[in-house]
Amino acid sequence: MTAERLLEGLNPTQREAVAYGEGPLLVLAGAGSGKTRVLTHRVAHLIGRGAAEPFEITAVTFTNKAAREMRERAASLIDAGPGLGGAFVGTFHRWALDILRRWPEAAGLPRRFSIIDSDDQRGLMVKILKDEGLDPKEYPARNVLSRISGHVNRLESVKKLERRTDDIRIQVVARLWRRYTARKKELGAVDFDDMLALVLKALSSDQAVAASVKRRARWLLVDEFQDTNKLQMKLLNTVLSETGNITAVGDEDQSIYRWRGAEMDNILDFEHSFPGAHVVALERNYRSTAPILRVSGALIASNTRRRGKKLFTEKDGGEPVHLFIAPGEREEARWVCDRIEALQTSHPLGEMAVLMRTNAQTRPFEEELTRRQVPYRVVGGLRFWQRAEVKDALAYLRLVVRPEDALAFERVVNVPARGIGAVTIDALRSHAEAVGRPVPIAARDTPETLTPRAQVALGRFFEILDEAETQRETMAPADFVGWLLEASGLLGLYDGEEEEKVVRRENLRQLATAVAEASLQGQDLEAFLDGVALFEDSDQKTSADAVSLMTLHSAKGLEFDAVFVAGCEDGLLPHANSQKDAEGLEEERRLAYVGMTRARHRLALTAARERFLFGQRLTTRPSRFLAEIPADSLQDDSDAFSQIVGQSWGLEAAAMVQGPQRSFGRQTGLGRPQSTGSVGAGPSQSRSPQRSVRGRPIAATVEDADGKGWRPGDRVSHQRFGSGVVLSCQGRGPGLKLVIYFDRAGRKTLVPTIAKLEKG
Ligand code: ATP
Ligand code: MG
Repeated sequence: MTAERLLEGLNPTQREAVAYGEGPLLVLAGAGSGKTRVLTHRVAHLIGRGAAEPFEITAVTFTNKAAREMRERAASLIDAGPGLGGAFVGTFHRWALDILRRWPEAAGLPRRFSIIDSDDQRGLMVKILKDEGLDPKEYPARNVLSRISGHVNRLESVKKLERRTDDIRIQVVARLWRRYTARKKELGAVDFDDMLALVLKALSSDQAVAASVKRRARWLLVDEFQDTNKLQMKLLNTVLSETGNITAVGDEDQSIYRWRGAEMDNILDFEHSFPGAHVVALERNYRSTAPILRVSGALIASNTRRRGKKLFTEKDGGEPVHLFIAPGEREEARWVCDRIEALQTSHPLGEMAVLMRTNAQTRPFEEELTRRQVPYRVVGGLRFWQRAEVKDALAYLRLVVRPEDALAFERVVNVPARGIGAVTIDALRSHAEAVGRPVPIAARDTPETLTPRAQVALGRFFEILDEAETQRETMAPADFVGWLLEASGLLGLYDGEEEEKVVRRENLRQLATAVAEASLQGQDLEAFLDGVALFEDSDQKTSADAVSLMTLHSAKGLEFDAVFVAGCEDGLLPHANSQKDAEGLEEERRLAYVGMTRARHRLALTAARERFLFGQRLTTRPSRFLAEIPADSLQDDSDAFSQIVGQSWGLEAAAMVQGPQRSFGRQTGLGRPQSTGSVGAGPSQSRSPQRSVRGRPIAATVEDADGKGWRPGDRVSHQRFGSGVVLSCQGRGPGLKLVIYFDRAGRKTLVPTIAKLEKG
C-alpha cells in the first residue's frame, strides 16, 4: 500500500496532521473542517505505513456511532477487516469497560460485575433517600445523582465534600454519596461514571495492568477533545507514553458538556499540558455553504472564551439562511413541515433534521409530521432498551449470566405476577443480610419466614432459572432467548390483539433478533448485555427516509443537507437555566453554533412568540442570539425580526420563562449559589467591556419601591425563611421581585418591600 493512497482526499494541512510523527499533536479547527476525517486517516496511516502495530493504537471518540464509522472508514482505507487488526477505536466507556472486564480484581470488582443504568441508579437513590428520611422534593434523586456524577468527573472526593462543614446540604450529599457507593458495592455493580474512575484505580494498583494498557495506548488519539473532563484527562495522562504521544482533535467552540464536567481548558491549555505540542489549524470548511458559515461564524464571534479561528468555504453561492418567527409553536411546526415537504423533492428525508434545545419541544413537530404522513424518528425518545418489557427480558438474561444480580432479581421475581409481593421481598432481604449473601442466592434457601404460598412461587421461579441454565448450553442464543421469553411467562403477559400488546410482543421479538445478530458477530450473552449497557440514542438505525427530530446535544458530529434549529427563543436557546452566568450563556451560544454547523446546504432558524412551556402559556421573545447575527445575512420569512431587533432583550422576557421553582441540583453552588449574572444580559451587554475574558458580567443594581438597591449575589435575610442569596431581579420599583435562594427554605420569589427583606 502506498502512503499516497492513505493521504488521498486530504488537503495539505490535513496531510501534515495525518502524517505527523510521534509527540503531542493538536488539531484545532472549526466545524466541518475535516477533523474527524484527519483522525480516521491517521489511524489508517499509522497501520498502513507500518509505523504502529494495530494493537498499539487506542482511539477514543464520544459516541458509538462515530466510533463505528471511524473504524469502518479506517479499515476500508487499508483493506482491513472491521476489527482493524486489533486497534481499539471506541468510546471512553467502551475502553474502560474492556479493561475492567479483563482485570476486574485490579479495580476491586467482583469477577462478574453488572452495569447499572440511569433507571437503576434512580431506584437505588430513591430507596436511600427514603431510608434517610429525606424529602425527595428537596433532594430529587436525579439531581443528587447528577451532583455526585459532577464530583466524580471533576475528580473531587467524598472526603472533600465532608470537609465542607459550613454547608449542611453538601454534607447531606456526601452522606448520600457514601451510601450509594456502599450499595453498589453490595450489589457488585458499577455505574457509568465509576467505569473510568475504576480504571484509574486498576492502573494505580496493578503494575502489570498499567503496563499492558499503556502498551495498547502507545498511539493515543482523541476526537471531540473539547468535551473531555478532568477524569478523562487524568486517564489520558496516566496511559500516555513517555514521548507524550497523543493526537487530540477538537474545536473549543463546540464544547457543550460543561454540565457533565467538560473542561474547555483541556483544549485551550493543550500546549501547556503537553509541552512541545505541535498545533495544526484547518481552515477550510468542506461541509457548509457560505451563508451558513457566515451566520454561524457571526454568532460564535460573540463568545470570549475561545482561541478564535478562520473558516472559509469554496462552495460558491448557496441558499440564504432563513428565519421564521411564528405566532405560536404550532405555526412554527407548520412552517418547518411545509419546507420539509418542499425540500423532499430534492433531498431524502433522512438528510433533514429539526434540532431543538429540549426533548419537550418535539411534540408539535411530531403531530404535524404525523398529520402529513411524513416519516420521522425521534432520537432520544423512549429508548428501545428502556421499555419496561425489554428491561424485564434483559433482567432474566442478566440473572442467567449472573445469578447473584440482586437488582435483576428484584425486578422480575414477580413478573409475571407470582404472588411474591413487597412483604416477601423484605423478608428475603433480611434473610440475605443475616446470612451475608446476595438476595438472589440467599433466596434459594426459601427461608421459613416466607408464607407457604410465597415459598412455592419462589421455588417455581428458580426452576425456570435452573432450566435456563441447561437450555443455554444446547441452544443457539436467539432460540434460547425465545425459549426464555416463553418459559418465564413474559410473552404470555402480552397475549391478545390490542395494539399495545402487539407492540410489546414485537419488541420482545426484536430483542431475540438483536441477540441473534450479536451472536453472528461472535458476541456471547455477556458481551451482548455489555453492549446494551453502553447503547446510546445515536446507535439507533438511521432510516434513509425519515426526518430526524433531536436535541442539539445529540446532533454533535453529525451532518445533514437541511437543518432547522427550532425554538430560538430566550429561555429555550439560551436556556433559562444557563442564563445565570456568562459561562452558561457562552455554552448556550456554542450549542446554537453546533446546531447551525450541522447543515450542508440549507439552514433555517425558527421561533415562536408564544409557547406552552413549564405547564403554562408564555409569551416569549426571540433569542438574543438572533440579534448577534447581522440582519442582512438572514432572510426573514416572517417579517418579524426587524420589529424585534429594535426592542431590548430585556430582563422581563428572560425572567418570564424562568419557569417554576427549580430544584437545588441546578443551582450553581448547592445551597450557596455563586452570584449570578444578570438574567437579561442582552447582546449589547454581553459585549460590554465590563466583562473579563473568563469573568462573569457585573449585574446592575435595581431599586425597589423604597429606593433600596438590590442585585444578584446580595446576601439577604428574611424573618421566616432565614438567610439566602439573590439569584435574579425581575422588574423594578414597586414591581421589583427578587428570586432568592434561601439556605434552608429553597427558592422563593419575593417583593423586597413587602417581604421586609434585610440585607446581609
Ligand atoms: P465537526 O466539527 O462537526 O466534528 P469535523 O471537523 O470533524 O466536523 P468532518 O466531519 O471530518 O469534520 O468533515 C466534514 C465533512 O467534510 C465530511 O463530509 C467530510 O467527508 C468532508 N471533508 C473533510 N475533508 C475533506 C477533503 N479534504 N475533501 C473533501 N471532503 C472533505
Ligand atoms: Mg468531527
